[in-house]
Amino acid sequence: MSETKSLSIYAYVNGRYLEKDKASVSIYDHGFLYGDGVYEAIRAYDGIVFKLQEHIDRLCESAKSVKIELSVTKDELTGIVIEVLKKNQLKNGYVRIVLSRGAGKMGVDPRNCPEPTLVVMAEPREPLFGKEVKGIAAMLSSLRRTPSWALDPRIKTLNYLNNVLAKIEAIEAGVEEAIMLNEQGYVAETSTENIFVVKRGVIATPHTSLGILKGITRDVVIGIAKELGYPLEERELTVHELYNADEVFVTGTAAEIVPIVKISGRIIGDGKVGPVFSRIIARFRELTHSPTEGVAIG
Ligand code: PLP
Repeated sequence: MSETKSLSIYAYVNGRYLEKDKASVSIYDHGFLYGDGVYEAIRAYDGIVFKLQEHIDRLCESAKSVKIELSVTKDELTGIVIEVLKKNQLKNGYVRIVLSRGAGKMGVDPRNCPEPTLVVMAEPREPLFGKEVKGIAAMLSSLRRTPSWALDPRIKTLNYLNNVLAKIEAIEAGVEEAIMLNEQGYVAETSTENIFVVKRGVIATPHTSLGILKGITRDVVIGIAKELGYPLEERELTVHELYNADEVFVTGTAAEIVPIVKISGRIIGDGKVGPVFSRIIARFRELTHSPTEGVAIG
């Protein structure tokens, strides 16, 4: 992207805007030592930070669940995200907010950490599977998504090893993505995307009670599907349904919306990018550029 140039990259770290090379956190940070923290990933499109409020709300919910207190208000955090984008002269970019328990002596006791660590960074980032829309291949992972009773996938924590290991399986198998089932054997999500299937014009996606992150792109796509008049079901999805779908696609901030055309050696539908996906992505592109769907960088 042209915005990369040779500009310094600035990040916000606990109240200060620092150049990337000078921005750092302590080796005693419990986010580093224990994965004790939460995060958000957000995209800006042509000067609009898409669904920023929704991402900040989800960060606050994740933080509340793991009992980390945010040291700034939601409005202040909105301002910090905008400021980081401005300082980096980015109108298009990928923003990461990381909130960890903070630095403190070793030991999982959260009382060791008097202050949480808040980092906001932004940089240009192309869609995860490339700029051009093309179908990707996926596999069923041997790993099950972390069950809600262990660590609820609705909390966007810094504990991503479950997802990282699934991704490693995909890489080892020579495909782009890994689809994880939940503890009960129903389809859950991929390493970093939610999943949708289309069969005879009906769209279905796992319900949020089935061990998934309640993706913000997922919510947008559900809205688009309804707006376009497709019946939309949030329910349990079986692997059989996945293999026999007319279309499968995944959604996420990093990937945006991407069709899956092959799963564990089975061609999905006719193996091409499907018509339902094409209508949905077209509307998604409009929404990502709509001032009513985000916060303007200004
Ligand atoms: N599922 C998982 C496990 C994720 O990590 C992500 C995003 O990082 C998603 C789904 C998609 O969520 P969103 O659309 O809010 O980016």
